[in-house]
Amino acid sequence: EAKRQRDGTPQLFRPELEQEREMRLTLERELRHAIDKGELSLYLQPQVDALQCIIGAEALVRWQHPVRGFISPSEFIPLAEESGLILPLGYWVLQEGCRLLGEWRQRPDCCDLKLSLNVSVRQFQQPDFVDQVLSAIYRHDVAPGRLTLELTESLLLKDPEGTIEKMGLLRRIGVSFALDDFGTGYSSLFYLKSLPLDTLKIDIAFVRGLSHDTQSTPIAAAIVALGRSLELAVIAEGVETEMQRAVLAGLGCFLYQGYLFGRPMPAADFPPILEPLAGETPPIAR
Ligand code: C2E
Ligand code: MG
Ligand code: MG
Ligand code: MG
Repeated sequence: EAKRQRDGTPQLFRPELEQEREMRLTLERELRHAIDKGELSLYLQPQVDALQCIIGAEALVRWQHPVRGFISPSEFIPLAEESGLILPLGYWVLQEGCRLLGEWRQRPDCCDLKLSLNVSVRQFQQPDFVDQVLSAIYRHDVAPGRLTLELTESLLLKDPEGTIEKMGLLRRIGVSFALDDFGTGYSSLFYLKSLPLDTLKIDIAFVRGLSHDTQSTPIAAAIVALGRSLELAVIAEGVETEMQRAVLAGLGCFLYQGYLFGRPMPAADFPPILEPLAGETPPIAR
């Protein structure tokens, strides 16, 4: 039966749309409580250098829903962004990430490692974002040089000057910045030059293509060259195969993150002991 809108015109009843809307509202309500109920956790994915030594980790948030089970960040981060819940969520990630870094200080296997945290645009644009980072650092007694914040290009759409200023403030005390998903967003090479960055992250889309399509290799090559000319570290994300790693190394990219080296894992399991790379088995004593 067609519902009638206030002005009397019939409105198509679309149960799927209605259902979807309801599901989103429920999820939103649940996400609001997830933080307080301790349903969020940080998983860590190793980042390695050319010798396959772990140099750090990226923290990736996970939501263990009591009924629905594990919910992927690609589902709830966009929802969190739209609803504004990204602010308390981002705050939690910052605190939890710094708490981990504080713990690592006491651990000989982790005390040299860096931790990268993803920061959403809305979170970064809060007027007190710099203070939030500083207080998390002091509270957990973190060496600022161990902390990297991952930003995306969309930050530059709005207020590039403010972005540069905030980054500058945090960088002065030793916090590093990485540009995440590079090459997929709004890239103004002009602003890229003026951004106080430390690292470019080659997006998984280009890395994935390194084994199939012909366009990805020159794009990855261009990103590596750009990073080098701007004196930035370049790390490739989503490296799954030895072939992709070898192509990247050939292009001059020697920092990697991806399933080849380790999936995101609970913080308690970090750091993993990595298997020797295929084709580089240690010499056997004869
Ligand atoms: P991202 O920051 O670009 O993170 C990399 C994503 O690629 C992660 O997905 C990771 O699990 C996945 N990945 C890593 N290596 C491989 C690989 O070899 N193959 C494949 N197929 N995938 C790989 P995840 O954990 O699902 O996170 C998705 C996105 O959600 C992140 O993309 C990030 O944008 C966002 N996100 C995650 N945690 C946070 C957070 O704490 N705060 C904010 N604001 N966003 C977050
Ligand atoms: Mg990231
Ligand atoms: Mg990324
Ligand atoms: Mg991504």
